Amino acid sequence: APALAARRFDALADRVARSRPADDGDGPSGEPDALDVFAPATAERIGSVPACDAADVGGAVERARAAQEEWAETPVDERARIVDRFGDLVVDRREELLDVLQVETGKSRRTAVEELFDVPSGCSYVASEAPDALAEERRRGVAPGITTATVTREPVGVVGVISPWNYPLTLSMADAIPALAAGNAVVLKPDEKTPYGALLLSELLELAGLPDDLFQVVTGEGPTVGPPLIDAVDYVAFTGSTETGRTIAERAGRNLIGCSLELGGNNPLVVLGDADVDEAARGAVQACFSNAGQLCLSAERVYVVESAYDAFLDAFVRETEALTLGTGYDYGADLGSLVDADQLARVESHVADARERGATVETGGRARPDVGSYCYEPTVLTGVDPDATVACEETFGPVAAVTPVPDADAAVAAANDSPYGLNASVWTADRERGAELARDIDCGTVNVNDAFLATWGAVDAPMGGFGDSGLGRRHGPEGIQRYTETRTVGVSR
Ligand code: NAD
Repeated sequence: APALAARRFDALADRVARSRPADDGDGPSGEPDALDVFAPATAERIGSVPACDAADVGGAVERARAAQEEWAETPVDERARIVDRFGDLVVDRREELLDVLQVETGKSRRTAVEELFDVPSGCSYVASEAPDALAEERRRGVAPGITTATVTREPVGVVGVISPWNYPLTLSMADAIPALAAGNAVVLKPDEKTPYGALLLSELLELAGLPDDLFQVVTGEGPTVGPPLIDAVDYVAFTGSTETGRTIAERAGRNLIGCSLELGGNNPLVVLGDADVDEAARGAVQACFSNAGQLCLSAERVYVVESAYDAFLDAFVRETEALTLGTGYDYGADLGSLVDADQLARVESHVADARERGATVETGGRARPDVGSYCYEPTVLTGVDPDATVACEETFGPVAAVTPVPDADAAVAAANDSPYGLNASVWTADRERGAELARDIDCGTVNVNDAFLATWGAVDAPMGGFGDSGLGRRHGPEGIQRYTETRTVGVSR
């Protein structure tokens, strides 16, 4: 077990931005004053964090706003240097961060490492790109020689970041870091299940030299903390479910502030007849079961052209059965635990529904309480009814439905038969054809011969969703510029 004493968690909880003293009991409105946090692997309580209220949120945003004025005047190179230093500190303090991440999410050490290194990679990209992305631009104006127009990018002010539990480090920092680099303050609300990683990162941001109050963390239930946060900030960057995304967008719309919504997916993976089935099967294992399937980019629907179907299915089942499930703090396990009992119940009900509608479980299909409280075997289903929940909704667990299709066109049509449009992949021996086909798939990112790294790892290319998968793009210059307002100054002769 990691050397993480309860005292360390308590110290992290003390970093939460509060405006009122904790009273150790129930708050004035009968709301609890603190929320317990549990380790998914054992279902044990590991500590608690304050249940912030509207006054805490208002106070945090007010202090952030005051700090932001000077930060906006700080040269972008200096802001970038702090971002770079923070990335280095994340690498230096990786063991402690990995322990915290594993304890609060239940993910395997291997998955935790993949997540952790996303943070410095994003930091070094943002630090190098920010000066260009934020540079003043000359435009033509009305007519060359008669007018000039100069476009500057001003920070929006205070950015609220609301993040989920599945990748608590990456998905907090993928928005917070570009927002800070663009001259904004950030108030982050992590998911109530996973607050400690974000709190530890706030310590590292301070050590990197970020001015006081510029980055603050408020903890608590989404419906309590979210609305006052959206009402107080100038932009909200949300990552989470489509359902919550709609309520966030409605509120942001009422306040006329910008928002980005990185939402759910039910992502397709397409295997063409000419694909190397062993390679495609290994890719499908990564696409379907990384982070035990609790990944927005995860593939859940696998369409295989008939000529490759039997060979692919054999290889996919074999590769899936070779995966190890575990809750240790070493590098032994591929998959860790699901995050909580609700997530386990969701996976179990989706698999039960598919079975009732005639699906075959090729492998997996069972919870493994003997390994960890919420562990579930990586599962491959075939013969899934297109109306089954697992085919229509996001399961967000280690479950893949494999379906044969007559040809590539049918695969694309099946892939596009979803209200979501986040991520997809195509496996083929013909890369050019794969890239061509990718243009017909209605998703924000499409990978050829890769599960998701070709697009997620490409921090200089935009990433986000079509349709119910969201609005706006993170990564790339777009992911920095969205935290700014442009001001155009036109000058006539
Ligand atoms: P969720 O929407 O329940 O929670 C996400 C965050 O929103 C949490 O911090 C939560 O406290 C907060 N929240 C909840 N209700 C709120 C409200 N009314 N107002 C303001 N904030 C509120 O999502 P989840 O189930 O925890 O996360 C999983 C979902 O996130 C999946 O659908 C997954 O696909 C999606 N996701 C998307 C991406 C992406 O980049 N597109 C990345 C990771 C996860």
